[in-house]
Amino acid sequence: MIELKNISFKYELQEEKTLKDLNLHVREGEFIGVIGKNGAGKTTLCNIIRGIIPDFIQGEISGDILIDSKNINHIERGEMAELVGFVFQNPFSQISGIKKTVFEEIAYGLENLGVEREEMKRRVKDVIQLLKIEDLQDKNPLELSGGQSQRVAIASIIVMNPKILIFDEPTSQLDPLGTEEIFDILKLLKSQNKTIILVEHKIDLISEYADRVVVMDEGEIVFDGETHEVLSNKKIEDHNVSMPIVSKLAYSLNEERAGFFKNIPITLEECKRELEDN
Ligand code: ADP
Repeated sequence: MIELKNISFKYELQEEKTLKDLNLHVREGEFIGVIGKNGAGKTTLCNIIRGIIPDFIQGEISGDILIDSKNINHIERGEMAELVGFVFQNPFSQISGIKKTVFEEIAYGLENLGVEREEMKRRVKDVIQLLKIEDLQDKNPLELSGGQSQRVAIASIIVMNPKILIFDEPTSQLDPLGTEEIFDILKLLKSQNKTIILVEHKIDLISEYADRVVVMDEGEIVFDGETHEVLSNKKIEDHNVSMPIVSKLAYSLNEERAGFFKNIPITLEECKRELEDN
């Protein structure tokens, strides 16, 4: 679904390359968690996949990008909007500022695509229900809290029904319950065979939901593999990313009592199973 071949990128005003020879192949329906310390290049990578680099943000790019088997340079902007949906890190910058209600805001993208009115209403209503934001639909989009804006931003992307969804820290403004709700929606989107790329610091959630994890550091992909394999590998800590809390616990207990955990767990469920087997 997404293929990056030898991608390097340097921002116009930077001396160093921000992305260095990245290779990444994402299959249809895969859920990939992207982690890495601040400044590692995660957002830049997302902007490359959604095509706004180098169109709107200038710099020098090299390599090839294929989306849904097409070279990104040959995908029209309208087609791209239907193919790739992107949820920003800052939900306020996603709000159009020209719509009076949340309902109209969510409908805005469909309006631009010329979707017929009755279908548009139906799709917006479904998404509002999915995100449990019925109470917000008549509110002014500019008067929402951070968490509310984050839900509306997600709704306005999901309503477009793109094949690929990129989320850049979509739960940064949400409390733990709101965060779990969004992850449940990501799970639902995955069951609909959407391809999902999620940049997220909440490692314990990545460990529960992602199929695969990519670790970035200094513009390079330093780990890329199945979620369990990557997150239970202590070496990821050399790149300033944390292992899940249960993995740390397991390593620490194994230091005191060698072999206590035969397999390092990454989720509570796995930890429970290991302890039951002991
Ligand atoms: P991350 O998402 O992992 O925190 P970013 O992709 O946002 O990393 O940033 C990677 C590097 O690129 C940082 O050093 C950052 O300062 C730089 N950078 C990001 N955006 C721009 C820009 N528009 N112009 C110049 N440099 C940028």
